Amino acid sequence: MSETIYLDHAATTPLDPRVLEAMLPYLSERFGNPSSIHRLGREARQALDEAREVVAGVLNASPQEIIFTSSGTEADNLALKGVAQALFLEGKGNHIITSAIEHHAVLHTCDDLERLGFQVTRLPVDGYGLVHPEVLAEAIRPETILVSIMYANNEVGTIEPIPELAEVAHQYGIYFHTDAVQAGGALSLDVETLGVDLLSLSAHKFYGPRGVGVLYVRRGVPLLPQMHGGGQERGRRSGTENVAGIVGLATALRLAQEEREAYNAHCLRLRDRLIAGILERIPSARLNGHPIRRLPNNAHFCFEHVDGESILVGLDQQGICASGGSACTAGALEPSHVLIAMGVPPEVARGAVRFTVGRQNTPEQIERVLDLLHRIIERMTRA
Ligand code: PLP
Repeated sequence: MSETIYLDHAATTPLDPRVLEAMLPYLSERFGNPSSIHRLGREARQALDEAREVVAGVLNASPQEIIFTSSGTEADNLALKGVAQALFLEGKGNHIITSAIEHHAVLHTCDDLERLGFQVTRLPVDGYGLVHPEVLAEAIRPETILVSIMYANNEVGTIEPIPELAEVAHQYGIYFHTDAVQAGGALSLDVETLGVDLLSLSAHKFYGPRGVGVLYVRRGVPLLPQMHGGGQERGRRSGTENVAGIVGLATALRLAQEEREAYNAHCLRLRDRLIAGILERIPSARLNGHPIRRLPNNAHFCFEHVDGESILVGLDQQGICASGGSACTAGALEPSHVLIAMGVPPEVARGAVRFTVGRQNTPEQIERVLDLLHRIIERMTRA
């Protein structure tokens, strides 16, 4: 068996052993329910409070503005449905603006809101996947209540100009949400600098556990709860808290932000070598996404005249884990909505492969991937 080379960190990341260590007591002896008044309950409550403080600190927010959820998907759903429905009930309007390249956690939530009678504008992007502030400004209507644009794209890694976009929304008094799920480990999450009112995160994208997320909601932003029950999370998200998961999320977020500079430098070195090597050796390769404004670990290519799925199978046979785009749409035969929105022709978009490097990758692994990829594509184009 050849060594496994994991280049799919945008899909999920391995759990950091330090995070696991922080979580273990809450999966074993410290099993209390944070709502219980006895000692075990109080211990769990304290862990929850401390985790909230840590997350708030990283986001430059206050603990009351942090809502723990079951995933990035739930955070996105709560942000969009929660704000849209609350403002609609206040008679404020029914128009939402998002972009054509969002994750399906946002796009399908918008589809659902449309079925309920909301109107949705999906902004176009340029060839790099960038949303332009003037395009946003033109789409704003008197009845617009919410704008949701992702911080960094999960397929091509393009980083959106969030402070500029949020400023446009605020000029018209409109709330701004960003899906920062892919940005969690790599970019600053300071909500004041970003100027956002709501921000979604997911622990498993920055070496935390799967199944736990965060929604930051600025004080004063109206939000209709989507989960009803025991009134946890200040009544905004009922359900007994996933204490171990939340402790894991907070630990992973703290470590990710403390170690961000070194981590990004490590990823950049490997990612840039991968990009240069692919462009050098494979003439049919074209890099997607912005050349500079992109996540430091992302290399996304289309290989012309070959099918991305077949490349992935060939790589997998050699122990290399990459992805065709987002893990959630992997297996679907449709070309990626992100690439189509960027103007990539459908037949080219079918040759998409995303490599996302991470902490444990080495320069030797990158050289091995370059060798194997070159051979796989050569064999496919000859066949
Ligand atoms: N938003 C983006 C940009 C993502 O990349 C993902 C996951 O791939 C999600 C939302 C969903 O997060 P989760 O897997 O925690 O539901």
